[in-house]
Amino acid sequence: MLKIKNINTFYGKVHALKNISIHLKQGEIVTLIGANGAGKTTILNSISAVTPPATGQIHFDDQDIAGLGPDRIVKLGICQVPEGRQVFKPLSVEDNLELGAYLRYRGREGRSAIRKDLDDMYALFPRLHERRKQAAGTLSGGEQQMLAMGRALMARPRLLLLDEPSMGLAPLVVQEIFRVIEQLRSERGTTVLLVEQNAKAALKMADRGYVLETGKVVLEGVASELLENKEVQRAYLGKD
Ligand code: ATP
Repeated sequence: MLKIKNINTFYGKVHALKNISIHLKQGEIVTLIGANGAGKTTILNSISAVTPPATGQIHFDDQDIAGLGPDRIVKLGICQVPEGRQVFKPLSVEDNLELGAYLRYRGREGRSAIRKDLDDMYALFPRLHERRKQAAGTLSGGEQQMLAMGRALMARPRLLLLDEPSMGLAPLVVQEIFRVIEQLRSERGTTVLLVEQNAKAALKMADRGYVLETGKVVLEGVASELLENKEVQRAYLGKD
């Protein structure tokens, strides 16, 4: 579904991604693991055209999307949930969700389809329904993460790019977020590229993973094998 080949991405003179190649099959959950600054976020931002790569190809369903703008990428079915959530704080929960369907309004899709998706989001995240009139800025961290995910899902993505969804959240909330990710894959067939500080939890859920060091892929494999890998355990998984 997604095939990234030899991309190089720069911030000014900083060479953040060096010949990165990764791929995702339809319906897979794939995780990116690496220390701070390894380039995980930059991979997501390169796909979503926030920081377009200088060279290399990104194929989505056989179309090269490397030169397209962020709005075209969303329209093709790729949505990113950024690190730190970035919900629109003064707006209500429901307005935030509706903004996720913005490109669909522009596409004159029926209001009833969007209403139905709102109901689906409230079924997925009942907490958001309880808080639907509340300003997003007054939500807890976990609720804001749910809202950021719900807002992305309102665009009906086929590929979801999740940047550190568990950051700063209590263990029970993290479980809830991970449950939703698995539910999205099993019920909708959504493909997920997941950047996670909690590498152990991410590998337990994922099908495959890539390990990054200073802008390069140094290891890739089936998630269960990475979990057993001594180097990975030592560098990224910590102790129980
Ligand atoms: P973290 O877990 O800390 O978010 P990461 O693996 O997601 O790390 P990136 O944020 O992708 O890493 O950063 C990759 C490299 O690019 C780092 O060396 C970082 O300092 C650099 N970088 C990221 N954003 C910028 C920027 N806006 N300007 C300059 N350099 C940047």
